[in-house]
Amino acid sequence: MPIIKNNLYHALTTETITKPVSAVKLQLDVLDGCKHKCPGCFVHRRGNSSDENQFKDAVKFVDDIASRGILIDEIIIGPTDFLSSENFYEVMPHLVDMINEHSPILAFITTLIDDELEPWVKWLKESINLNTEIEIGIAIDPHKFQNQINYVENIKRKLNYISDNVEHDVVYTFLLNIKDYGLDYQVLHAQAVKEFSTTIDFIPSVSRSARPHITLATIDKFNEYFNILAVGDKINNIMVDHSHAGMNYTVLNYKKGNWWLSPFMYENMAVEDDVFKIEKFEDIQLVTESQIERAKGTECESCPMFFSCYNRKIILLRDYLGVKRCIAPKENMINNLHNFDSAAQEMYNWSEYTPEADKNGYRKKFTLTDDTNGKELNRIKSIFYT
Ligand code: SF4
Repeated sequence: MPIIKNNLYHALTTETITKPVSAVKLQLDVLDGCKHKCPGCFVHRRGNSSDENQFKDAVKFVDDIASRGILIDEIIIGPTDFLSSENFYEVMPHLVDMINEHSPILAFITTLIDDELEPWVKWLKESINLNTEIEIGIAIDPHKFQNQINYVENIKRKLNYISDNVEHDVVYTFLLNIKDYGLDYQVLHAQAVKEFSTTIDFIPSVSRSARPHITLATIDKFNEYFNILAVGDKINNIMVDHSHAGMNYTVLNYKKGNWWLSPFMYENMAVEDDVFKIEKFEDIQLVTESQIERAKGTECESCPMFFSCYNRKIILLRDYLGVKRCIAPKENMINNLHNFDSAAQEMYNWSEYTPEADKNGYRKKFTLTDDTNGKELNRIKSIFYT
């Protein structure tokens, strides 16, 4: 069974507003080793793996969240390229039962450049139930993506192999580490839509640098680009959807027995700083609420986007970065205040949704794995393009 054909459906729209449930996404830093050098990458290649007790505690932590009626919506296995990781097959046995219990979207990051897919495909078949949807984030070099036919053709070949050999539903997006590439991102994004029917997620990998001034400068520069985009531009993806990664949705980062809240700036960030640290689930509320005090007397206090930034932990991020001014693409967010969800509203119909149904493959009804259903694919594309 094949790769999902209507990637745009999954990649473009946010589930936050249309999925009536409290949910968490877990970003698990557990993999060591990566042989690639993607531009803009600040991932630590070593020192990520947990020991046996840390894995046991992590699983308990996740089960505790689920016992509160909260959906384990997505688990990202990272931070390195899973195909070239040195410990993938040692780590995953600690997590497999937990994954099968919750059947989340199970996400992996890879370049798809030259690593063997066969062992992973075999492992997936033997280890992960079919209600678990697989997501592949393909980290790209944007210059090669735009200019090298072989680079793009290789990705297509790998995706075809996955489509032919993986039984699970598979969705994919491209990942571009945020950096000043001097490129027109609209052109790049349009290429991803046209050639692959998917989007590009902009990843703030720089947050892993542990150097706030570098993170701030990188984000400021990217905001300059975003703030002058036209209203309703299709590249205005999840950042300017002020509901995404907020309200009913919390993202947690894990590494070596530690948990942190993840701020959301263009995508989930990983920052191993005490300002985001939680010891137990209840801490989420206290740490999140501390932003009300932090915002007082600053631009954020009376900002129309405060509720969005509060939910996305952006006030915490602002303080971590050491400034009291706006750090978000505020102009663009305000410009798109009322049209942020039009695609989502058209694409989704969540009638009879329950967390239990979600675990049992509810979302499969939205998934097209048949190339011949051109009418539905065209409907989805027309929503994107109009
Ligand atoms: S970070 Fe910017 S957009 Fe967010 S609340 Fe503060 S001023 Fe508003």
